[in-house]
Amino acid sequence: MIYLDHAASTPLDPQVAESMAAVMRDPALQANPSSSHAPGRAARACIEAARSAVATLAGATPAGVVFTSGATEANNLGIIGTARFRAVRGRHLVTSAAEHASVREACRCLEREGWAVTWLECGRDGLVDPAAVAAAIRPDTTLVSLMAVNNETGVVQDIEALGALCRQRDVPLHVDAVQAAGREPIDMRREQVDLLSLSAHKFGGPRGVGALVLDTDRVARIQPLYHGGAQERGLRPGTLPTHQLHGMGVAAAIASARLPLDPPRIAALRTRLEERLLAVSGVRLNGHATRRACHIANVTVAGVEGESLQLALEEIAVSAGSACDSGNDDPSPVLMLLGLDREAARSSVRFSLGVSTTAEEIDRAAAVFEHAVSHLRRLAPAA
Ligand SMILES: *Cc1c(COP(=O)(O)O)cnc(C)c1O
Repeated sequence: MIYLDHAASTPLDPQVAESMAAVMRDPALQANPSSSHAPGRAARACIEAARSAVATLAGATPAGVVFTSGATEANNLGIIGTARFRAVRGRHLVTSAAEHASVREACRCLEREGWAVTWLECGRDGLVDPAAVAAAIRPDTTLVSLMAVNNETGVVQDIEALGALCRQRDVPLHVDAVQAAGREPIDMRREQVDLLSLSAHKFGGPRGVGALVLDTDRVARIQPLYHGGAQERGLRPGTLPTHQLHGMGVAAAIASARLPLDPPRIAALRTRLEERLLAVSGVRLNGHATRRACHIANVTVAGVEGESLQLALEEIAVSAGSACDSGNDDPSPVLMLLGLDREAARSSVRFSLGVSTTAEEIDRAAAVFEHAVSHLRRLAPAA
């Protein structure tokens, strides 16, 4: 099996797995990290080291890191927590229709509670126009939420421009930076991002842990979603999972250290893959040609049926153009925004590469793709 689905989840880095296992086995760390006895304090120290590493990856201070169960929770906490806390100032949010489902649905939840949401569209290249964001901000706007890197197309938004305009209007900016972490430099203070979501399993860490990172100079408080504990300054109560957070910290440290090394290598492999994919007739690239993170190539194959294409690509683990996040076969709303019709969206494939991807795997995947498309076209030449 050739694994080219790193945007869905990355394999756990073996070094991270080892260090998590060591933490899980260490008798000196078997305690509740909130306890004041020696093993409790040792577990807490382990967590604080992880907090620092995650803060460094985000360009924030450790005090701003709120650990969560993942980015779905971080997005919900960041958006709903900010909206509710700032409700006295206004009940209007700005986001885009191309966001991850966890952002879209958190905003829809607020809509049902009476908030007004401006749903921006992106251009056919997948870019959200900063001028459209500026125009959408109203006196009662209390949050803008836009992603750094789209998980389906890899398109990179101009976060610096968005940060500058939100700061100028004094509206907090939340950024889902899940697909950017370890692939694009993130410096939330320089980029003037107030809240940022991360997920460990998208950069070599364990599944089931993430963080909402706050610029504490700008966002002193948000409203928690859960209640009943002082952990994470009361913003996310519940006993902290020492080994999970340690794993996220080790993965964050590796991602930060390897940022100058891995993305250029992955980008070169992606180019190698795209050259082969796009040489097949009727294959088109989705999203901006150059303003994309290193790891994603999303293509539409004209004239073949989506489901058959998926079956024919069974040897490679990739994602299809039906919305993988909704568990049904509705075409991806993100691809529809790029102007694809339902059929084209369904006949789309996302290849996503990672640190473990090799040139040999890319060549084999390209050969499987070429063979699959020509086979399907021979079966249904009229299609
Ligand atoms: C995977 C992903 C999420 C959700 O992260 P989980 O930790 O799996 O909940 C959110 N946003 C984007 C862009 C993602 O790719």
